[in-house]
Amino acid sequence: MGQSWKVWPVCGAHDRGLRAVLDQKTAVWRCTGGGTHTVAPVGALP
Ligand SMILES: [Zn+2]
Repeated sequence: MGQSWKVWPVCGAHDRGLRAVLDQKTAVWRCTGGGTHTVAPVGALP
């Protein structure tokens, strides 16, 4: 009780949680559904 985790972004296409990874020195949110795809740069999601 009392935990305050930040809301984890989810891929709208696959309804999967995203993971933050480095892609060419830029942190991006990546989805592992549908063969893995980059969703958005970290910080660009609302
Ligand atoms: Zn996805």
